[in-house]
Amino acid sequence: MAQNGSIMSYFPKTPKKTPSSPLPGDGFTSAEIARVTDPTSVPWEPPQPYSEVSIDKITPGPRCISFTGRVANLYETTTSSKNPQAAKGFLRIVVKDTSGTIMVKLWYTKTKYALRLGQLVRVWTYHVSFGDKKGPAGEGLFTSIFPETDRACWFEVIEGCEEEARTPLGWKRRGVWLMTLKDFVSVGCDVPDARVLVCVKSVGPKKKTTNKNGVSSEMVTVNVFDHTGEASLTVWNVITASAAEWTPSETVLLLSNPSLRVDKYTRLSLSARSLVDVDPAIPDADWLRKYAKRAIRREHVNPPWPEGVFDLEAAANSQNRVLFSFAFLDEFARVAPKEKFTGYLSVIIMELRISELYRRERLMCNECCGIPLFANAPTLMCRNCEKPVALRMNPKIIGQVIDETGCAGPGKLLLSEKAWEQLLGRTAAEFVRLDAANLRFIEQRLLFLRVTMRFAWAAEEGEGGVGRVWIWGVEP
Ligand SMILES: [Zn+2]
Repeated sequence: MAQNGSIMSYFPKTPKKTPSSPLPGDGFTSAEIARVTDPTSVPWEPPQPYSEVSIDKITPGPRCISFTGRVANLYETTTSSKNPQAAKGFLRIVVKDTSGTIMVKLWYTKTKYALRLGQLVRVWTYHVSFGDKKGPAGEGLFTSIFPETDRACWFEVIEGCEEEARTPLGWKRRGVWLMTLKDFVSVGCDVPDARVLVCVKSVGPKKKTTNKNGVSSEMVTVNVFDHTGEASLTVWNVITASAAEWTPSETVLLLSNPSLRVDKYTRLSLSARSLVDVDPAIPDADWLRKYAKRAIRREHVNPPWPEGVFDLEAAANSQNRVLFSFAFLDEFARVAPKEKFTGYLSVIIMELRISELYRRERLMCNECCGIPLFANAPTLMCRNCEKPVALRMNPKIIGQVIDETGCAGPGKLLLSEKAWEQLLGRTAAEFVRLDAANLRFIEQRLLFLRVTMRFAWAAEEGEGGVGRVWIWGVEP
């Protein structure tokens, strides 16, 4: 603007100050301002010595203590105060170590604590009180802290200590101490301190509901199971964030005193008396996780090809090609259940369900978040995690297959991507683009056809007989 060097052009422009929005150019550094506006953003130094105690050693009264435990239950209550300095709400956190539980009432104004069940936390406080009698496990002690305004108390999430405080409260010995889902449903909900160990099967999407009084809540329904049954576990509001991080057939939950409702389905939920141990360090949890992996794989609508199990290159180049019959395969699998082997089968396809599965939009399938997905397309969006999932040809397309000695039922033969391509004469993506008339034509052409299938076999844990036969090549 000022081209001819007026004195003003040598000064940097400063933004105009308006009286309504003063800039904080008063000599304080941003760290100093943050210390006042958000005290929890500054590293905390204990103002006096705090003795670290296990939770069972905590007694009511004034005393500077700190304790460490895992979040075993959680609720959030918001307040309606308009005062900017006043607390916006508090979290009621049941903190549990291997000796006991204590309720921590954590007040906040600005800090978002974003807590999850099972997180390891450390609390510093100078006063503990007797709580109401409703506390879990009967201890009924609580401490109320407000770290944003009171620097004599503090709350911290501890990352990385995976092993610490994972043993459940009162853990004794295997079997005696736990209930199965089936026992819990029939008698257990009347037993005080009933404990059920379950594995996550699927995690549903977050849903919003509004009750009669116009209060809206968020909920997530998690399907859980053990070796005796299945149930749904509904979690609300602040706990929904925990559920979103649980992994199907991996996350194991020990539920102490869950609420139970049985109608058509077994429904579990958490009450103020409930405790949740996420992935407790007990042998039963490892056992259940292994069981879950097997069961889920067996139930999977389309088990993935077992990568790295078979040396198919060696099998393809081998001079030693064995023609098996179904009877021989069955015998071989029983005699040498630990062996892995490959060979040929010469079979007739007696049943094909291409047209039927096309009508039902189930030509391709896979699973995501523990939920089966079907479509007549190579990809589908998972409704739960909202990620695209690659689908594979539905193994149920091939119904019964026979040879002169026996048969394999629907879904028992699992074809690799290449085997499907060889059987159908085109890629899966091309196949599902065909119209009904063309699909029917392929179905009729393949029905009662004799084909040679190159297979690979390996026993799956806990499986008797032949189990699944993995087909990696098809020749007419
Ligand atoms: Zn998903």
